[in-house]
Amino acid sequence: DKPSITVLGLGAMGTALAGALLSAGHPVTVWNRTAAKADALVARGAARAASPAEAVAASPVVVACLLDYDSVRDVLGAGHLQGRTLVNLTNGTPGQAREFAEWAACQGTDYLDGGIMAVPPMIGTPAAFVLYSGSRAAFDRARPALDVFGESVYLGEDVGRAALTDIALLTGMYGMIAGVLQSLALATSDGAPATDFAPLLTRWLQAMGGWAEAAAKQFDSRDYATGVVSNLGMQAASFDNLHRTADEQGVSSELLAPLGRLMRQRAADGHGHEDLTGIIDDLRKDNA
Ligand code: NDP
Repeated sequence: DKPSITVLGLGAMGTALAGALLSAGHPVTVWNRTAAKADALVARGAARAASPAEAVAASPVVVACLLDYDSVRDVLGAGHLQGRTLVNLTNGTPGQAREFAEWAACQGTDYLDGGIMAVPPMIGTPAAFVLYSGSRAAFDRARPALDVFGESVYLGEDVGRAALTDIALLTGMYGMIAGVLQSLALATSDGAPATDFAPLLTRWLQAMGGWAEAAAKQFDSRDYATGVVSNLGMQAASFDNLHRTADEQGVSSELLAPLGRLMRQRAADGHGHEDLTGIIDDLRKDNA
C-alpha cells in the first residue's frame, strides 16, 4: 500500500501536487486556509483536515506548497511537527531555506527543501522536475511520493542548494522572457502579426540553446579567449544596433540597456577579443 501524504496549501500548485498523488493511489490529506479549494480533491477521495495540526497528524510526510516562507511559518507556527518529515516546496531564497531548516530541527522535524521546475499542468508528466536539498534521510523516505510529481533531483545536504538552483534557473527564464517581450515588441512595430514572427524566434532560441553549456565550460576554466566565434568587441558594436533599431521603431530598449552597458564596459576594459562569458566575472561581486 502506498504511504499517506499530507499537502498543505491548495493554490494552483498545491492542487496539482495533491491531484497527482491521488492519481498515483496515495491516501492524501489536504488543508487550505480557504477551505473550499479542497472540495474538488475531497470529491476525488482526499481527506479534508480541519486545521494544519490535524493535517500534520494524518501523515508521516507533509508537503507544504504555500505562497512564501512567511505563510509556511504562519501555517506551521503552532508546531505539531515532531517526528514528521517536512518537504517544503514553497519558493524562497537559500537563506530562507537555511533559516527554516534550523527552525524545523528545533521542532524535531526532518527537513527537505524543494523547488518545483514546472507549471501546474506539467505536474505528474515527464516534463516536470523538482529540485531537493537537505536531509538525505527525508529525501529517501519521501521519495516514492515525490517521484509522482516529476523527476526528483536531489542536490545534496546543503539545504540552500535547491533554492539557489531554482532561483538561478528562474533567472535564466526571466532573461529569456525579457528577450521574448523585447523581440515581439520590435518585430510587430511595423504592424506585422506576432504569430507570423514567433516560429522564427522559437527556431533561433533553440539554435542558441547550447550556449549555456559552452559558456559554463569557458567560465569553469576562466579561459574566455580560446575558440571564440563571436568576439565581445563585435557583439558590443552590433548590440548598439539593437538600441538604434528600437529607437527608430519607437520601441523602448530599457530591457536591453543593462546588458549593453556591461558589454561596452567589458570591451573597453580590454576584453574585446574574448567571448562575452567574462561578464560573469564583473557580475560576481566577490570576483571569484
Ligand atoms: P497560489 O497563489 O495559487 O496559492 C497560494 C497558496 O498559499 C494558497 O493555498 C493560499 O491560501 C496560501 N497562502 C498564502 N498566504 C497564506 C497565509 N498567510 N496563510 C495560509 N495560507 C496562505 O500559488 P501557487 O499554488 O501557484 O504557488 C505556490 C508555491 O509554488 C509558490 O511558492 C510558488 O512560487 C511555487 N511555484 C508555483 C508555480 C506555478 O507556476 N504556479 C511554479 C513553481 C513553483 P488561500 O487559498 O487561502 O489564499
